[in-house]
Amino acid sequence: MLRLKLHWQILIALLLAVIAGSLAGADAGVFGVRYVQIFDLFGTLFMNALKLVIVPLILSSVITGIAAVGKSRDFGRLGFKTFLYYVSTSLIAIVIGLALVNWIEPGLVDGAPARDHIGLSGDTAEIAARAEAHDSGELADVFLRLVPPNIVAAAAQGEMLGLIVFSLLFGYFATRIAEPYAGYVQGFWKGVFEIMVLITEWVMKFAPLGVFALVAKVVATTGLRAVEPLLAFFLTVVAGLAVHFLIVLPTLLLLVARVNPLRHYQAMAPALLTAFSTASSSATLPVTLECVERRAGVSHRTTSFVIPLGGSINMDGTGLYECAAALFIAQAYGVDLSTGQQFTVVLLALLTSVGVAGIPAASLVAIAIILSAVGLPLEAVGLILAIDRPLDMCRTAVNVYSDSCCAVIVGATEGETEILKG
Ligand code: ASP
Repeated sequence: MLRLKLHWQILIALLLAVIAGSLAGADAGVFGVRYVQIFDLFGTLFMNALKLVIVPLILSSVITGIAAVGKSRDFGRLGFKTFLYYVSTSLIAIVIGLALVNWIEPGLVDGAPARDHIGLSGDTAEIAARAEAHDSGELADVFLRLVPPNIVAAAAQGEMLGLIVFSLLFGYFATRIAEPYAGYVQGFWKGVFEIMVLITEWVMKFAPLGVFALVAKVVATTGLRAVEPLLAFFLTVVAGLAVHFLIVLPTLLLLVARVNPLRHYQAMAPALLTAFSTASSSATLPVTLECVERRAGVSHRTTSFVIPLGGSINMDGTGLYECAAALFIAQAYGVDLSTGQQFTVVLLALLTSVGVAGIPAASLVAIAIILSAVGLPLEAVGLILAIDRPLDMCRTAVNVYSDSCCAVIVGATEGETEILKG
């Protein structure tokens, strides 16, 4: 029997979902149950199943990965390369957003601020006056989350950053204890990791169904009409994401890792489609790990360090979106941001993209932080809320893709020869 590859199955599910979602709409149903509710049920089931594996998978993957490097001096080098990649690609993405919004000016209609067209209220002069240097204390939160006071609570609340830091420490010190305990501990976590990989592979068999349900629900409830008034902004963000996804990252793969970017897209297809459908890089994490290690052939040592950490702190698409959204809102209000203020936006987009959780719509909180830092009204967040979901799907795919490129680049520069060879 002809058996389609998983990413084709998911892609077909996605297309069918667009058709089914538009046909179903928000209200149609069968036997008194709305189709949207049915989509919601299956979509949530799939999301739950992905989330279910996250905590044990992250723990076991990071612990076993770090235990493999923990004894050598490689640890520092691996960390340095990874952070260098995270910061530079996020910054490039944010600057792309900045440049495109300044160039396309989606916040202006016929040269005038679009505020009335898109239903923004508030006195421009007053808003402009407020747009002076403000500070944002919330940034300290990012650092606080690195060290959660209770690891069980952190795991229960999906505080990935804390969980990862704990796993890094655990893995590192697991290599510092004496035998036979070191062997026992490492063997145990290796076993847990293998089991979690099998469970993930099993869950992914249901991906086409899950993706269908998730996307059909979005199409049925949001529809494509919500995009219309903000079309210029929508297209600006999509163009920026496309530049990063189709030009910047593949160029890095080609120049630094010397691998074929097309093969990497192919290897990452299931993860990209899952990220797109779930709009959550955390929920996609199990699939990303699987694709990077098993399909792209990056070593476990590199994958287990780069991917969980990247999933939590490296969000290029999110940074680009935050910067573009803040500048768009300023434009739409007719507030001219000085170079210094634009710099503040870039810096805050970089820092908050680190702190944003890998869940749907998480950027909105970060955008609110940026807006208040430059003194713009928060009500504008409500405006972009209407079109946030489709953009979230796109930026999450870019977030996940960037992490995977980091793994390939770090792996290749560490001398791994099996990457994208299969
Ligand atoms: N949904 C994004 C993610 O999970 C975060 C965001 O930009 O809202 O990667």
